[in-house]
Amino acid sequence: MKTLQTPFFRIKEQSLQYDISLLKQSLADNWGNYIMGYSVKTNSLPWLLNYLKKEGFYAEVVSKMEYDLAAGLGFSGKHIIYNGPIKDKKTFEAVLLAGGYVNLDSNYELEWMEELSRLYPNRHFRVGLRVNCNLAALCPEEIPASQEGGRFGYCYENGVLKAAIERLSGLPNVWVSGLHMHSSTQSRSVKIFGALAKFAVAIAREYNLSLDYVDMGGGYFGGRDDMPDYRNYFKEICKELSVYFDPQKTILIAEPGISLISRAVTFETSVIDVKNIRDRKYVVTNGSRTNLNPLVTRHVYPHHIDYISDTSVRDIEPCQWICGATCMEYDKLFEITKDVALLPGDQIIYDAAGGYTMCLNPLFINYFPAVYVEHRDGSIFTARKAWTNEEYLQKSFVENETRPPKY
Ligand SMILES: *Cc1c(COP(=O)(O)O)cnc(C)c1O
Repeated sequence: MKTLQTPFFRIKEQSLQYDISLLKQSLADNWGNYIMGYSVKTNSLPWLLNYLKKEGFYAEVVSKMEYDLAAGLGFSGKHIIYNGPIKDKKTFEAVLLAGGYVNLDSNYELEWMEELSRLYPNRHFRVGLRVNCNLAALCPEEIPASQEGGRFGYCYENGVLKAAIERLSGLPNVWVSGLHMHSSTQSRSVKIFGALAKFAVAIAREYNLSLDYVDMGGGYFGGRDDMPDYRNYFKEICKELSVYFDPQKTILIAEPGISLISRAVTFETSVIDVKNIRDRKYVVTNGSRTNLNPLVTRHVYPHHIDYISDTSVRDIEPCQWICGATCMEYDKLFEITKDVALLPGDQIIYDAAGGYTMCLNPLFINYFPAVYVEHRDGSIFTARKAWTNEEYLQKSFVENETRPPKY
């Protein structure tokens, strides 16, 4: 096999299959009647969307752009789950009329439903409501992602959720048929998902809702042996849901993102140079923090190293700083202490690099790296070529020219 030029992302199909199977099995064993939605924002690589479509996933989208992408890749309107606070009216209508899933989040969407109800008196509309879940109250011992609580969905405590349900119930051909419970948590604990499921039961009971579906959203751990996985989450979720809901009637929807693609994806970089600056050793690599964590929120980069030569003859270095390829001081990834000296040609391979990485890459100094898929038989498929100035220039113009500059 010819060696691939770093830096690049690698998707191992076998690992992806493992997590897809684990998800299917967990949903089948614990509930039976389920829909898997894939969170497109987590990684919208066309190859991946197409692969997951073939595996039976719906596309969970939160913008017109994502919807158009999914539709273009062959997801039917029926196989779309449309979420988020910023919806596009045409897309909203298209998904509803095609029989897809729409979870309302905003005030203006209630107005849209009133309009649609009038416009299509002979159609039946079934919609879901995103519930704003007060995690601090539901699970006081857990740390919420945001101190003030989440900003999405309709709030139960102040009566806004109830008012939305009543407003929709007043329309002759509209039914509140789903609850959307997605809530970001820092801990991704199994307990929180149990509490969210319990809250769905409480709401359905209180407002006497007959639900086609409960959508538990995403936010699970996946691809890590030291953390819970789909089996733990759905056992807990379904234990709570089954107190009130019947799997024969109510579908369980899951919308995983990062948990599905962490195990499968690595980002592979090479050491270019090792520099001594006063008493420090800087290892310069051709990958960057901007490829892995453009938001610069992470301080841990799970990785392994492929050494180009025998390490038993190398010195032990007290401290080496692994640095990225940009000319920014903050582009330092991690420190290696008391370990073998790195040399040009060694490869630093970042693990769990699938979620919120390539989709957040900036066009900063270098453009998007290539993405390769390693099939189960070891063969390599190019899912995306590295971007060049050709892609960068494609919609840019200079004065007095009608075409983009040549490259
Ligand atoms: C982001 C998001 C997901 C996926 O979250 P992960 O943490 O990547 O699993 C699922 N559903 C909704 C509504 C989201 O906003």
